[in-house]
Amino acid sequence: MALRFYINATISPPNQVKVNYNNSKSLQKVKNLVKTVGLPSIASSPHESLQKGNWVKLICGASFEDVVDIRNLSLVYTLAGVDCIDCAADASVVSAVNQGIEAARVIMPIRRPWTMISVNDDEDLHFRKAEFDPEDCPLDCSRPCEKVCPADAILFEGKKSTAEVSHGTDMPGELKGGVITERCYGCGRCFPVCPYDRIRLVTYVRDATATAELLKRNDVDAIEIHTSGRQTTAFEELWDGLGDSVRYLRLVAVSLPNIGETTISSMNEMYSIMEPRLLCLNLWQLDGRPMSGDIGRGATRESIAFAVRLADAKDRPPGFLQLAGGTNAHTVDGLKKEELFQTSITKHSRDEKLRGISSSSSNSLIGGIAYGGYARKIVGRVLNSLQSQQGLARIEDHPDHLLQALQQALALVGTVKCYNPFVTH
Ligand code: SF4
Ligand code: SF4
Repeated sequence: MALRFYINATISPPNQVKVNYNNSKSLQKVKNLVKTVGLPSIASSPHESLQKGNWVKLICGASFEDVVDIRNLSLVYTLAGVDCIDCAADASVVSAVNQGIEAARVIMPIRRPWTMISVNDDEDLHFRKAEFDPEDCPLDCSRPCEKVCPADAILFEGKKSTAEVSHGTDMPGELKGGVITERCYGCGRCFPVCPYDRIRLVTYVRDATATAELLKRNDVDAIEIHTSGRQTTAFEELWDGLGDSVRYLRLVAVSLPNIGETTISSMNEMYSIMEPRLLCLNLWQLDGRPMSGDIGRGATRESIAFAVRLADAKDRPPGFLQLAGGTNAHTVDGLKKEELFQTSITKHSRDEKLRGISSSSSNSLIGGIAYGGYARKIVGRVLNSLQSQQGLARIEDHPDHLLQALQQALALVGTVKCYNPFVTH
């Protein structure tokens, strides 16, 4: 049987945020930094950000459930001015997000980002977990799975492998540990590197009834439905299963990959399914290359290409467009090259102007960008250092770390929000 680690996190109950900071120089620097960049999000709503094309969403990960990291990430990115925080459809994860948001608002009186939960209508890469039994692993394995995991979700403890013992004095024994379930977000990178085929990727589908209950909470503002877009039966079943709970929402997002010629017709079909009960904003998340933003510069190309295609499509259904899947520090540059960065619809529709058709909307063609793996990676380095020094800690209790993390987050969010250029990586 596979052994799993569980993180026994101790954080305060939701909405009971006690912040008793010492008035350290670092905390003052955090406040000064937020004031100096002049966060537009202090004044503008997430809806306005979508209209202007400077919407930024933090993706915690549809399967990432480490509540300590999620709380700290939410705090840091709220201070950095994101418009939305997308997380797993799980009550304790939603509470962790909201607790991080409220802790940030105690430090600075900044407006709340929306809290979004992610669900799937069928099998989907974002909704799976790696599993293996470390007792089945050969002792001479060099553990490439552990090295390749971007979430530090694979950990071995106890007895050492023969490879390690050969350099020390301990006796070899069984490997203990394995996948830290809460931290695994299903990227799949461990799967192909295991030389002994010991790893399984287990998929799951979020339950519509439990999701509907979550949506009724007053601290959930939005839902994202991940779909393959290849058939709409499962999408319709999920939408029906959510029932009236969707009337509590401010935004419904549909995340889909580029499926070529049928993408637009599939979007139109899904829109017509949603329309009778769609009482709020809607958004299409263009999932270019899922869970790859931390890999490198080229990872963002597919999401840019997807955006170019959708921006040109006149027959697409209503709704904001937002990039995801491979997004990173190079995404804004890519959009600028395509003249899609904060380009308004009226300005862009040259052929419509030529034909004398005036658009009534001044919304941006692309509403904004969602960042997942890359956003978690740049702040995660600081969180890892905090954890190795302090254990499971609230980042606001360690203002030096908070300052470092915020600088990283601002450098990314600032590329979309156009903050003062002094904020650098
Ligand atoms: S699937 Fe990805 S996150 Fe999960 S354990 Fe494997 S490498 Fe780590
Ligand atoms: S790479 Fe495969 S065999 Fe080696 S430790 Fe990881 S899961 Fe076990």
